[in-house]
Amino acid sequence: MSGKYDPFQNMLDVLDVAAKKLGLAYNDYASLRSSERELIVSVQVVMDDGHTEVFKGYRVQHSSTRGPCKGGIRFHPKADLNEVNALAAWMTWKCAVVNIPYGGAKGGIQVDPSQMSEGELRRMTRRYTAMILPILGPEKDIPAPDVNTNAKVMAWIMDTFSMMKGYAVPAVVTGKPLEIGGSLGRNEATGRGAMFSLLNLLKKLDRKPEDMTVAVQGFGNVGSIGAKLMQEKGFTIAAIGDASCTLYKKEGINVAAAIAYAEQNGKLLKGYTEPGLAVIPTEELLELDVDILFPAALENQINANNAKNIRAKIIVEGANGPTTKEADEILQQKGVIVIPDILANAGGVVVSYFEWTQNLQSLMWDEDYINANLEKVMKKAFEEVWRIHDEYQVPMRMAAYMLALDRVVKAKKLRGIFP
Ligand code: NAD
Repeated sequence: MSGKYDPFQNMLDVLDVAAKKLGLAYNDYASLRSSERELIVSVQVVMDDGHTEVFKGYRVQHSSTRGPCKGGIRFHPKADLNEVNALAAWMTWKCAVVNIPYGGAKGGIQVDPSQMSEGELRRMTRRYTAMILPILGPEKDIPAPDVNTNAKVMAWIMDTFSMMKGYAVPAVVTGKPLEIGGSLGRNEATGRGAMFSLLNLLKKLDRKPEDMTVAVQGFGNVGSIGAKLMQEKGFTIAAIGDASCTLYKKEGINVAAAIAYAEQNGKLLKGYTEPGLAVIPTEELLELDVDILFPAALENQINANNAKNIRAKIIVEGANGPTTKEADEILQQKGVIVIPDILANAGGVVVSYFEWTQNLQSLMWDEDYINANLEKVMKKAFEEVWRIHDEYQVPMRMAAYMLALDRVVKAKKLRGIFP
């Protein structure tokens, strides 16, 4: 965690207000103000040159009240216990918002994977999996990809877990390659879900994609696919940016060409060009004169320093926790509509749920069926959040937290406290 930004506290601040608005007593949700289980492991890796490195790894299970814990694994130099706790809690709320039968978890390793060979990454992933194995399993805790992890990493986790058990256990992770039980549509699901959320909002506002420009921060799984799908729906993608550079073209960037370039360039945009394209300073992306911002990189990007300069009227949170509490207040005063992370980026976990369901039943669904069901789930969740937003006159983030907290607290009451 860098500086004073505290993502878990950020989450708690919203949660406490949601509890108050729901009329909950502290006792009703006190246990949800901390995680059920936090595991810290030392991940030893023999590097290619023979020396041993030891990385810090985490797996946090925030809540298993509504079902097995679910959440991604992140490889990032800034991953730490506080961040992983926040990400795990957001998973609890996200699964409750879209009403799928999961609790929330998250994992991370404090590492810069761009500095490692594939062999080193594979050994690190396997060692980490072995270290957290006691708390993993299809009925316990099911990881998925997050920042700097992908289907290949999920395959290594699935294989390591299966080797320990002595038989193939595809349902232990989601976001796997298709060949070993992955689901059609999972790779695109988070971006597609964000696009559905945005379209649902535009219907309420009576606006059309063709009239709207978008700036996209982060060009990995969520950002690039979300941008591509939005462009296909008629939005103009005026800016894209990643850790390497930020690109702007008022008339719209050719997203498919940029994706194809990044694919060949270590997943980075640096060096991509097309007629009329300008390279701009990174900090300008979020302050551009566009209609919509699609932050899809990391937490704490829209904060007290830049919120006042934001000109977009809609923010679709592809990333988890991109907006701080202070920024949220400024955005509210400016009348900016934020589709919160726990709704906007829930498409990934929804299709992860479809993948797990298919694995448990040894079924394979076709892609149209998956996408149609994703659309249905996202629409229902959007409508439920919108109704609370209307009824209580609260921003959509607060409405989403109220919906989620109400569901988790009701489940908690039914189960009671053991023993
Ligand atoms: P990814 O590793 O595929 O992509 C991350 C992108 O962010 C990369 O393009 C990277 O270059 C860029 N980036 C990193 N630092 C940046 C910076 N300072 N400025 C601009 N860009 C920067 O990760 P992802 O899976 O796309 O995840 C992105 C966000 O979406 C995360 O917050 C993650 O938790 C969230 N999310 C992911 C999923 C999923 O299914 N993958 C689901 C829900 C939420």
